[in-house]
Amino acid sequence: MHDYHTHIGQFNEVYYDYHEVLRTLKNNGITEATLAYLTPRFDNGNYAKDFYFAVRNELKDVRNFANRINIKINILYWADPLVLKSISLDKIFSDFNYSGIALHPGVHSWTKDFSDLLSLIFCFAKDKNIPLFIHTGVSEYDNPLQFEKWFANFPTVSVQLAHCKDSKPIIELFSKYKNLTGDTAFCPADSYKAICAAGFKHRMYFGSDFPITHYYHNKQSSIKRTLDEQYKIDCSFILEF
Ligand SMILES: [Zn+2]
Repeated sequence: MHDYHTHIGQFNEVYYDYHEVLRTLKNNGITEATLAYLTPRFDNGNYAKDFYFAVRNELKDVRNFANRINIKINILYWADPLVLKSISLDKIFSDFNYSGIALHPGVHSWTKDFSDLLSLIFCFAKDKNIPLFIHTGVSEYDNPLQFEKWFANFPTVSVQLAHCKDSKPIIELFSKYKNLTGDTAFCPADSYKAICAAGFKHRMYFGSDFPITHYYHNKQSSIKRTLDEQYKIDCSFILEF
């Protein structure tokens, strides 16, 4: 089974070590995982670059470890406008074999403040034939409809719309653009059912957002879960649909 939406790294005050995350996935029958290293928003370009290089070095160890425990991983480059100011995408992808690019409009307002760079990222994805991954939600800042211009201009670029929390814009976009897919991470049952009923079940991928699920559970509940306990629940959730 492929989990199309996972993370490693620091989330608020918790550091999710890749050994533990990948072992948990592997122990629960995952053979392939798409992952993005959690990246905060920096205001200082030097900090952003330092973080980028540190992550890139750690990702080499992540890949070695994944090979050792025999789980296939697709690592997304989490795009940061401050890094891209001084390091080109060509350089980033020649230094490390990323599988695609993740965009988080909650961290960077891509369509408003970085629209030229966003077009460049879509161009790059088109030329290199790599997929994009976009965090989406129901608020104004992460509504997937804000990206429609780019979906229309780059119809050959595959884009995974993470979360699919509101079925309405997702169904509208799926109807118009064939290269869009979605994932089930934090996707409400009603939204998932509506997307399936509209005939798009085949375009919805299993994604857990693990270990963010673990973070929120343990933050909100007095009964703490281990990573393994949480991931078992993440996997059973999708089977309920
Ligand atoms: Zn996520």
